[in-house]
Amino acid sequence: MLEARKAVRSLKEYHPPLGGRVGLRLDFNENTVGCSPRVLERLRQLQFDQLARYPERESIERQIAAHLGDVAGLLLTNGVDEAIHLVCETYLEPADEVLIVVPTFSMYEIYAAATGAQVITIPAGPDFGYPTEDVLARISPRTRLIAIANPNNPTGAVVAKSDLLRILRAAPDAAVLVDEAYFDFYGESLLAEVANHPNLFVARTFSKAYGLAGLRIGVLVGSAAQMAMVRRVGSPYNVNAVALACLPEALADQDYVRQYVAQVRQGREQLEQELRSLKLRFWPSHANFVLVRIGERHDAFVQAMRERGILLRDRSRDPGCEGCVRISVGLGGQTEQLIVALREAICEIAPLWVRL
Ligand code: PMP
Repeated sequence: MLEARKAVRSLKEYHPPLGGRVGLRLDFNENTVGCSPRVLERLRQLQFDQLARYPERESIERQIAAHLGDVAGLLLTNGVDEAIHLVCETYLEPADEVLIVVPTFSMYEIYAAATGAQVITIPAGPDFGYPTEDVLARISPRTRLIAIANPNNPTGAVVAKSDLLRILRAAPDAAVLVDEAYFDFYGESLLAEVANHPNLFVARTFSKAYGLAGLRIGVLVGSAAQMAMVRRVGSPYNVNAVALACLPEALADQDYVRQYVAQVRQGREQLEQELRSLKLRFWPSHANFVLVRIGERHDAFVQAMRERGILLRDRSRDPGCEGCVRISVGLGGQTEQLIVALREAICEIAPLWVRL
């Protein structure tokens, strides 16, 4: 009988709750209002021959390289998901070790474990701080990948640049993947360090601030020599023609992204203020979401919010996140709507003695 590889058979299944997402979607850290109108205009103008031909990535890659500051090696990918997958496929052998600090984005563990490599999870420090010393202590000659989301999902916590540089220097034989999916909401990047560290990879996405999650487009940056290796593993047509046609318009409309990010940052502050006044424990975030501890009644809370037309993501099964829910932040009016519903839902789930 045909059997999948052993590593695949023992993989955790990852089924994000994507079915029937009706309402205000604050559950997947997406842009809550969509992309720049310039992208939509470009979509309307697409001609049949652009769809009939295989997509050509190269000229768009040159444009994005210039946008990012003339980086050495760069590959457009089918979202950051594919970038993670390609890094794992390029570097990992079954005898290798992968270090990830948890809680974090699930796909590092899934793609790494699928290669047969051993995934070592290191718990985050107090307040979900990055445990740099613990990570340094676990680096061994077998360490081949260290994946770090900065800012991290689902916590919104960040790692200091000096700590990232220490890890890069301590693990010259490992790929260090710094996933900057939420860079636009944070503003600090390790991109400029790619020139100094041949083991550094930086990933960015257009799924979040740019509002293009449905197009599936991201970018992976690394040294020219390493990216030539990564390219060998990927499909030459990994990014579809529609996404490639739209990307230059999305990049050109920086005002749109700036305005969206400014509103999200304002909303995040407003939400954090509200959580403070509701006396809920939360972790200050550098991304477009906030992780909050609701407690035992997290299920009832998510349901109460859903009944009020707002979708949130229950993260209570993530390590260290017992009773926690992640709330994405959108535009001002949506944050107002969120706060009204939040007050009602918290009141509804609170035990009677608290309400009295
Ligand atoms: N990295 C992180 C840290 C994320 O949170 C996400 C999306 N939730 C991704 C990568 C995936 O991004 P993309 O849509 O570009 O595949």
